[in-house]
Amino acid sequence: MAKKSKQLIGECVHCGILGPVTSDHIPPKGLFASPRPKLKKVPSCESCNVGASKDDEYFRAMLSFHDTAGDHPDARQIRDKVFRGLDRPESAGLRHKIANATREVNVISSNGLFVGRRLAYDVDLIRLDRVVRRTLTGLYYKEKGYRLPDGYIAEVYSEEGLRDMSASAIEKMHRELIRPALANVPRTIGNKVLRYWFALASDHPHVSGWVFQFYERINFFGITLPADRASV
Ligand SMILES: [Zn+2]
Repeated sequence: MAKKSKQLIGECVHCGILGPVTSDHIPPKGLFASPRPKLKKVPSCESCNVGASKDDEYFRAMLSFHDTAGDHPDARQIRDKVFRGLDRPESAGLRHKIANATREVNVISSNGLFVGRRLAYDVDLIRLDRVVRRTLTGLYYKEKGYRLPDGYIAEVYSEEGLRDMSASAIEKMHRELIRPALANVPRTIGNKVLRYWFALASDHPHVSGWVFQFYERINFFGITLPADRASV
């Protein structure tokens, strides 16, 4: 068993439950090459932590394999680490997932010509969004000094996931939340491993828009809004 440490009691920034908490790194520390910069930490309950480290492992593998993350120095180092780590017996689950998700796709040029085949991954976007949602609730707490209040929810969409939304919903989200966020100066964590922009709505105290950019290329969008407006 791990060495006995002093148990902290506090409010989980993700779900608001009061009880034993541990420190959760924001964003996941596995995304950074060593030496790692000092990361923000937020209190998180055990139930929000369950499954989070598996999600984080999946997130860093998928992001570092992403075509567009290619040149980023931290992504390169992480990719090498992930590849080496896949040989470990305890990585069987992740190895299996990646093998199952790999398929060959046709590459079609912009003028519609078939130009060859390449490997592609079917990425579990819901799982990726879950990691970014934890990052959002953690950063919300750090930026505002209190956690997202009860009755409000955080929603996250990967750029790829936006394809599933209606054009009018995307346009509304962009106009009201994303564009104002991008007008602000971004904050940077590490060697641009994560940059994020956010804007608070002027008329609603807890409504906000967020843009997260990992490895200078991979984008996620986030919003906080009242739960009863979630289907807007
Ligand atoms: Zn929690």
